[in-house]
Amino acid sequence: MKLPKVNDLGFFEIRLESIGGLGANGAGKMIAEVGVLSQGYNGATFSSYGSEKKGSPIKSFVRFADDKTKIRVNSTIEEPDIIAVFHMNLLKIPTTLMGVKPDSVIVLNTSLSPDEARDFAKLHAGTLVCIDATKIAMEEKLPATNTIIMGAMLNYMPFLDKNIFEEIIRKQFATKPHVIEENVRAFKRGMQEGVVKVFKKDGKYPYLPYKKTDPKYGKDTQTPGGVLVEAGNSTLKDMSVTRTGRIPVFNSEKCINCGQCDVVCPDMALNFSRHDDGKMYLNGVDYQYCKGCLKCIEVCPTRRKDPSDTANHALFVGIETDYDVASITKPHHQHQMK
Ligand code: SF4
Ligand code: SF4
Repeated sequence: MKLPKVNDLGFFEIRLESIGGLGANGAGKMIAEVGVLSQGYNGATFSSYGSEKKGSPIKSFVRFADDKTKIRVNSTIEEPDIIAVFHMNLLKIPTTLMGVKPDSVIVLNTSLSPDEARDFAKLHAGTLVCIDATKIAMEEKLPATNTIIMGAMLNYMPFLDKNIFEEIIRKQFATKPHVIEENVRAFKRGMQEGVVKVFKKDGKYPYLPYKKTDPKYGKDTQTPGGVLVEAGNSTLKDMSVTRTGRIPVFNSEKCINCGQCDVVCPDMALNFSRHDDGKMYLNGVDYQYCKGCLKCIEVCPTRRKDPSDTANHALFVGIETDYDVASITKPHHQHQMK
């Protein structure tokens, strides 16, 4: 029974940085189950999130020790041996890579190369594994990327048995038999399709030490009655962090301007304007506000006839990294102010 490395307390530690809906909580449980129930390690797993809903940032933690070392620590993991970042947008949150050490492994869901991803993440050092989990999930018709990310992580957790992982995945999805084989296949692809590069400390980017962060408002600092003191602050809102990699893409040639997408959009992210004929026309999606819930696509009547014929849809699902989202729509608040 041997862990690849341990900290002063004898723990091998894993942190999963994710967005609600991508399956990090489930991944943490599966990883722990393989190690604890099937292979006899001591372990603990738990998740940390605010409101439990699709689209919210979430952290999940797994701590392993050998069978002689008791785990009496329940705190969050500050200096992970492995960190998995389930979506590139999470790197916009400065705390995501805090505490990553030069010998940490960073598994990143991205279509970028390791050199590009390192610059995007401003990573000081570490072993970077880039895996395009969103694309694999789309190809395997899976809503979540967790089994793919676990596959990419497994190469750096050699103490866990690949075959037991497959069994646990089958058990986890037993109530959804239509996605069992897809998840097993996705897991194997995760193991094989990661692109790896080791970055030594070269001074290009500084080390980001772990720092406990408190929310801006707490019980002592909250404004009376929860009053918002910054007027008009919704124009500053940026929902891109909550998108899970899929975006609605607009094809103006197929749009019949029925407005049904606007009725269901929870964030008023669809940009309409009145034309000279007096009618309202859809200009596109505002990706500052779009949180990627895809409700607009579900109701769009242009897909009712044949949901698979995306060439004839006014709105269809795209992978975010395939589009330059900043250039394909006008900002919503500018439109509102006209
Ligand atoms: S996916 Fe569609 S419905 Fe959801 S926030 Fe974006 S534009 Fe609105
Ligand atoms: S995108 Fe679809 S739902 Fe929205 S206005 Fe056009 S046709 Fe209607």
